[in-house]
Amino acid sequence: MNLPVHPASRLAPLRHFVTGLARVLEGRPDEATILREGAALLARLVAHDDWLPEDCARPDPVHYRQYLLHADSAQRFSVVSFVWGPNQRTPIHDHTVWGLIGMLRGGEYSQSYRLGGATGIEAAGPEVRLEPGHVEAVSPRVGDIHQVRNAYDDRVSISIHVYGANIGAVRRSVYGPDGTAKPFVSGYSNTVLPNIWDLSRELQQA
Ligand code: FE
Repeated sequence: MNLPVHPASRLAPLRHFVTGLARVLEGRPDEATILREGAALLARLVAHDDWLPEDCARPDPVHYRQYLLHADSAQRFSVVSFVWGPNQRTPIHDHTVWGLIGMLRGGEYSQSYRLGGATGIEAAGPEVRLEPGHVEAVSPRVGDIHQVRNAYDDRVSISIHVYGANIGAVRRSVYGPDGTAKPFVSGYSNTVLPNIWDLSRELQQA
């Protein structure tokens, strides 16, 4: 007989990531340390694709979705699942805070940009392809402007993003083809968050 997996057990990898990152931030490390230690934690989280709740993995036929998975109580960080339908892409945008992108399912391309040049904005380096398990960093210090798209035209891709703020409520910018900035607040696609804290099953079993 197969017993149903208790949601909190299934969500243990996400809970461990959240508590691990909070522990890293307790020492108020510099950004390079956050990106390095956060990337190691995120690589562990996206090494297995067996924990993301269905509700936070659902694509939309028109727009990519961004589901808040967890927000730190002091808004020092947030964790978001980005769900890309076939061919979906972001506008060119910035973050204004540090960010980490961990590929969970499918694949995506990220193209970095910098302001300036003849057209006001230009590609900075080649497009990077992320495969499941890969982690990439953004920030105003390491390069903050990019455009991300699903690598596939026939299936859903999902990446787990972590930012140094409550990213859905951060005032940032999207950029036109001539580098013109427009104000942008991304928000979230969900109103209910995964419950990573119901440990009752484990208590009952102990
Ligand atoms: Fe981004």
